[in-house]
Amino acid sequence: MLDLHDYVASIPNFPEEGITFRDITPLLADGAAYAEATHQITEFAQARGVNVIVGPESRGFLVGAPVAHEMGIGLVPARKPGKLPRETVKESYKLEYGEAALELHKDAIKPGDKVLITDDLLATGGTIAATIKLVEALGGEVVGLAFLIELDALHGRDRLEGYDILALMNY
Ligand code: AMP
Repeated sequence: MLDLHDYVASIPNFPEEGITFRDITPLLADGAAYAEATHQITEFAQARGVNVIVGPESRGFLVGAPVAHEMGIGLVPARKPGKLPRETVKESYKLEYGEAALELHKDAIKPGDKVLITDDLLATGGTIAATIKLVEALGGEVVGLAFLIELDALHGRDRLEGYDILALMNY
């Protein structure tokens, strides 16, 4: 079986000194690797009865969209502020430097929806914690969180306690 690690480029000191950037663009660019990652996440989602996928802007879309397509279900983008044209719910969160926020359209999630949240990488977990709050504010049930990569040293998993997490690769 193909090893997904072979499709991640590790770039030292990017975007700043001391950070090792895990670049997933080689994985996305390889049809077999992208399909394998998509398939593994699809199996995780199917086992949990997921009926809608939510992905935070922007790499969450790249992970979530092919899974939604493979499952024949919908994708809901969680977007940066000011991008969604209709009524939204908004959640702010802390980044390493400064603040960020995400929005969902109010009618994007129905009460009782079983939601899988997808992203490329779990670092501190701030992005995903905010996305979870948005989904739950609309009455959705977050039944899984799926990532291509988890950075173990940042302990993002600790702040996501109680949620079912799939990471295809750990660094
Ligand atoms: P966080 O909210 O801290 O879990 O970070 C989430 C987002 O930051 C991820 O979805 C990644 O897109 C990006 N990110 C954080 N650290 C890295 C890294 N070392 N390499 C690549 N992307 C990263």
